[in-house]
Amino acid sequence: MADIQKVEVCCKKCDSTSLTCKYNVFEQADLEIHSWECKCIDCGYRLTTAYRSDDEDIDFATVTVDQCPYCGRKANK
Ligand SMILES: [Zn+2]
Repeated sequence: MADIQKVEVCCKKCDSTSLTCKYNVFEQADLEIHSWECKCIDCGYRLTTAYRSDDEDIDFATVTVDQCPYCGRKANK
């Protein structure tokens, strides 16, 4: 289930401070995906990232997957 909140972060494109931050978790068997999306309400500019437990480029256990890398908010659990 998506967890969406309004956040006050400066948009890199239009300098608006009205953004929404969306957090999604997907879990299936051994796979976990935590995705974050910060989107500007005014211009639609989006920043997205996803942490996958099967991503060999990251050390999944040490990455803070439940915190947005853009606005810094933590997921509600
Ligand atoms: Zn914007």
